[in-house]
Amino acid sequence: MPQDENRTATHDPAPNKSERAVHPELAGQLLESLGAAEEQEGAADAPAAAQGIIRDAVRERATDVHLDPDSRGLHVRLRIDGVMRDAAVLPPQQGNRVVNQLKSLGGIDPVAQFGADEARFAFQHERGEVDLRLAVIPSLHGQKLTLRVLDPRQLAYGIDELGLCERNLSRVQHWFTSLGGMFLVAGPVGSGKTTTLYALLHALKLQTCSVSTLEDPVEYSVDGINQVQVDEEHGLTFARGIKALARHNPDVILVGELRDPATALAAYGAAALGRTILATLHSRDAAGAVTSLRYYGLTDRDIATTLSMVVAQRLVRKLCPHCRRETSPTEAHKNWFNVIQVAVPERSWEAIGCDHCRQSGYLGQTGVFEVWQLDESDYHHLLKGATERDLRESLASRSHKHFLADALEKAEAGVTTLDEIQRLRLVGPAFPVGPD
Ligand SMILES: [Zn+2]
Repeated sequence: MPQDENRTATHDPAPNKSERAVHPELAGQLLESLGAAEEQEGAADAPAAAQGIIRDAVRERATDVHLDPDSRGLHVRLRIDGVMRDAAVLPPQQGNRVVNQLKSLGGIDPVAQFGADEARFAFQHERGEVDLRLAVIPSLHGQKLTLRVLDPRQLAYGIDELGLCERNLSRVQHWFTSLGGMFLVAGPVGSGKTTTLYALLHALKLQTCSVSTLEDPVEYSVDGINQVQVDEEHGLTFARGIKALARHNPDVILVGELRDPATALAAYGAAALGRTILATLHSRDAAGAVTSLRYYGLTDRDIATTLSMVVAQRLVRKLCPHCRRETSPTEAHKNWFNVIQVAVPERSWEAIGCDHCRQSGYLGQTGVFEVWQLDESDYHHLLKGATERDLRESLASRSHKHFLADALEKAEAGVTTLDEIQRLRLVGPAFPVGPD
């Protein structure tokens, strides 16, 4: 509709069922700045819209902002507590203005339209500073921008604030005081591994030991720790960095991620010489970490002699305490429990939505964990070449708390919903998964 060209599209009071609901309250400052720019000639040159969108993202605790162009305009979407929510749809002219302002803030030439580009910059807001990563790529209907918001407040948790149950927390604390070897935090992208790693760092800096980190990127500075930025362009890879740091005789080396054989072997080498290694890696659950290490070329003997603890984790949204409601599992939930061979819990809760949670029913996130402290029987199994499934079965036969048990405990207690647990695609301990 040409007459609506300059109107800021906001909330549709009766959205078509096939359309996603738009929540303009998530983009208050952006929409306000665009409205002011319409009235005031020349104001379009100030980066008010770009600043507005960043302030909106910080206020709403968004971890990223996506600006997605399509035939209708530019969709402004925020990822809050791991889930995308639509904040506004801007007409093309306003959309271009926001895109250009954000590119300028990141030091990217707004005239260049055809290449992929990225930038990093800091932004000062009322309550502190956030670090921003901007990525641009041309798409069918124009440039797509993604802005990642790295808020240091997200990395300042203590290990007792991550959502570990009492037993798992005491296991992790016991590891700190009396064990060494390799401590792995396992999970997919976006599972909160970095938050856990930093919580461990905060705990370590209080210990009487020398701690160095190798990170890519260093997301947050921690006093009392030597933090080293990986710089592949200049040859400082994770693998070389581990070997170089070992010469500085640290007690603990934190490696951002074990993501290739060279890094995994270097980490093993340092652990075999008595250093304590903390690292993240990708795996489905705790036992799956063994498969990942084997894939990277570590032998069963290497793993058995150095691996001491694996914390596997995922994130779920926490129910808003102001509006959650107790209910019982639905038929769909019961069917799901039958498929994954797990008993149906008696209690569950549902997300309702109120002003406190912007009508989403959820407020914040918490971790769901599986903490595997390897013992004599695990080492014995590993040296005999046990499969991932053997290890899982051995864990199930002991008092090990499986991932799903931790998740369901949180759902029954009203911390989260069964829908959130279902989203994790976890299966029960008796369900056959993984290599034989
Ligand atoms: Zn609420």
